[in-house]
Amino acid sequence: MTMGAPNMDVLVSLSKRRGFVFQSSEIYGGTGSVWDYGPLGVELKNNIKRVWWRDFVQQRADMVGIDASILMHPTVWKASGHLDHFTDPMVDCRECKRRFRADHVDTLPWTHYCPATKGNKFSIPAGEPCGHCGQRRTLCPECGKGELTAPRQFNLMFKTFMGPVEDEAAVTYLRPETAQAMFVNFDNVLQSMRLKLPFGIAQAGRSFRNEITPGNFIFRTREFEQMEIEFFVNPNDRVDGRPADEFWHDRWIEDCMAWFLRYGLTADNLRLREHERDELAHYAKRTVDIEYKFPIGWSELMGIANRTDFDLKQHAKWSGKSLTYFDEERKEHVVPFVVEPAAGVDRALLAFMADAYREDEVRGEKRVVLKLHPELAPIKVAVLPLLKKRDDIVRTAHAIRADLARQWRVVYDDTAAIGRLYRRQDEIGTPYCVTVDVQTVGDTERGEAGDGRVTIRDRDSMEQIRVPTAELATVFRELLDAAAWTQVAARYPSPPRS
Ligand code: ATP
Repeated sequence: MTMGAPNMDVLVSLSKRRGFVFQSSEIYGGTGSVWDYGPLGVELKNNIKRVWWRDFVQQRADMVGIDASILMHPTVWKASGHLDHFTDPMVDCRECKRRFRADHVDTLPWTHYCPATKGNKFSIPAGEPCGHCGQRRTLCPECGKGELTAPRQFNLMFKTFMGPVEDEAAVTYLRPETAQAMFVNFDNVLQSMRLKLPFGIAQAGRSFRNEITPGNFIFRTREFEQMEIEFFVNPNDRVDGRPADEFWHDRWIEDCMAWFLRYGLTADNLRLREHERDELAHYAKRTVDIEYKFPIGWSELMGIANRTDFDLKQHAKWSGKSLTYFDEERKEHVVPFVVEPAAGVDRALLAFMADAYREDEVRGEKRVVLKLHPELAPIKVAVLPLLKKRDDIVRTAHAIRADLARQWRVVYDDTAAIGRLYRRQDEIGTPYCVTVDVQTVGDTERGEAGDGRVTIRDRDSMEQIRVPTAELATVFRELLDAAAWTQVAARYPSPPRS
């Protein structure tokens, strides 16, 4: 039996209990706007970034990467429009002083002191009227008493000071997106790598936004990571009879969607959302979001925008440097158009976790299992001794761990009985367990020689096979390289029933 998608509390609690994500500075009461990745979270997050980089940079001849600094010249943000336009409308409660994003107020449950029930306090679901008096929310959703101010624009960039003097001249900002570094370095990359259009520059790194209402776990935080690509095309080229920028925009939408499906997100939980004309950024020709059905409902997982030549032209204007490409064929300088696939690492991690979460029932007992794609799983193999009192079994298990750990993240665990150990690994998404038992090493007292085989257990089917120790590395290379379990299992016997 498999239950439906988990709610956010289940994921938050699993994340804390098993070392995926902790509240930042928890011993000081924590902050609701930033989170720390624990020992398993960092592995999962690194795996997401690694496969993204491998698939979109390493394997493609038309892509290169950079790793730019978080602090940039302040004029970058003037040129990009962030100083003047990177704002959200904000309202304040005159009573409790809480602050909300004006466009988010009606998506929150609201507190109501109902006049029809002598002022009793109710918590009413977002967007619904009071069931007793029929009123809709007009006051602060949180305290239910204060009036809200008129919306004011609030800039989301974190301000800081560069250098020892805290005066205006030294003001700079923590980058609110990684994208601008690709535009600013356009000419450096073009010249040093001798690239021909179309080509892309990728970067994964931290971004900071002083969000007015962060929340929903790692979905919206004030410090987060992005994986962004700026893919430059010649606007005068045509591909398949269409303008190159439009062709490549569609191609990137397809490739990004395919990427999320490949690493395990369910097709039913993914959809594309075309931005309406009136919500398009002024520079964007077209923007499409990939939305995921998060535990909080359908929300943006990533955006793919056709930003035209806006950014390069702006930086050329403000820096006074030419940011063009020489089109050999037409013998002219051209300002490339850019397609920008921009994904959030933390939102991707949340989606992968939510989608992988299952509650099964195995022999009358609940089993929680994270069916993470093997490439994403924080730990690939757990090596478990069946009897921890037998030195030879323990020694063999340690040796197997050390050998496999040269290639993958592999752990040894002997802190509980085998059934319990399997459950623990299921809950963190470990695709395979290796068990070393008496048959592996033999029983000298009874004069029985070992068979040198260990049991591999598959997380998803819970099937088991007996594999010679010497073949483990080869078998795992196959399995972790996405070979089907059934295909590998067909070559090996099942363990004898005990
Ligand atoms: P939203 O509308 O949710 O605020 P956005 O459209 O401003 O997001 P982009 O500027 O397109 O986001 O950033 C690209 C990606 O970066 C988003 O799709 C998301 O995955 C991620 N991202 C943006 N803001 C945050 C945040 N505050 N916390 C976590 N991830 C974020």
